Amino acid sequence: MKPPPFRYVAPDTTDDALAALADAGDEAKVVAGGQSLIPLLNMRLAAPSVLIDINQLTDLDRIEVSEARVTVGATVRQASLEHDEEAIRRLPLLGQALRHVAHPVIRNRGTVVGSIAHADPAAELPAVLAVLGGTVEVRSTAGERTLAAEDLFVGPLESSLDPTELITAASFPVPEGRWGSAFEELARRHGDYAMSGVATVVHVNGDGLVASAQAAFTGVGPVPVVVDLSGPLAGQDPTRLDTAEAVAAARGAIDPQPDIHASAEYRRHLSGVLVDRALRAAGERAWHQGGGE
Ligand code: FAD
Repeated sequence: MKPPPFRYVAPDTTDDALAALADAGDEAKVVAGGQSLIPLLNMRLAAPSVLIDINQLTDLDRIEVSEARVTVGATVRQASLEHDEEAIRRLPLLGQALRHVAHPVIRNRGTVVGSIAHADPAAELPAVLAVLGGTVEVRSTAGERTLAAEDLFVGPLESSLDPTELITAASFPVPEGRWGSAFEELARRHGDYAMSGVATVVHVNGDGLVASAQAAFTGVGPVPVVVDLSGPLAGQDPTRLDTAEAVAAARGAIDPQPDIHASAEYRRHLSGVLVDRALRAAGERAWHQGGGE
């Protein structure tokens, strides 16, 4: 199928893009990499009358790495972040998750921020933003604001953004102290959205024991589901975790739904298996390398 007719606007500056968004109101859609939006248009599941292409906004094509955070501008491709050695060294969870996002050709075009704005609960990057307690920088002609991941994701493919707002960057905080991370998922075919996936971060204290642990699941709720697993894991040796209680807590915290790919029971079981693997891998990394792989 072909998309319904739309007016195409390709502003050269962010201010022009914001003005175009303000003019069009809820008639407009931003297009970044187009890897999610264009299929929706072609299937006529979305029919905006104006498409605002942000690919000319070169000021948003930036990755900034500091001690405290990795900030990714709105036109940065998923592949650019995946291959940014400094960013991945600072925050290995980004690389651990990005390699599961679709296929390399899609990551060459799809943007990091587009994936977050799309708010697909099965997507990897929203879970990474959520588990790290990350934020997005949002602008419109009315001003700017910073939105926490927990306030951004509202439901499947639904965010709290106003139609006149543009996410200019996503900000992924680097955890403090000694920590390790992992991303595990299972998809029916490589490159497909996973039936379930999980991002984990394990923190280790000065005695080398687990101080806290967080997980964020994909595909088992309307938004990324963040579960604090510090209670069952705190005080354990991170290289020899007894995860039984944490796995049970995680399975109890999620609300998977059945679909043609898997039953709810299977997804709940699978999520427990994945979080067990991810916690063990993150624990090992926290102990051996302080966050790396
Ligand atoms: P676009 O398609 O351009 O936009 C997506 C949505 O976000 C639109 O509603 C758009 O208006 C909005 N948007 C984009 N940028 C902004 C912004 N700066 N501010 C406000 N709104 C904005 N993704 C996964 O996570 N995991 C997968 O396994 C996976 N598999 C895929 C397999 C296939 C075959 C395909 C085609 C895609 C797959 N994807 C997957 C989706 C892919 O990662 C997309 O690139 C991503 O979801 C959207 O990024 P984009 O830049 O292409 O956004």
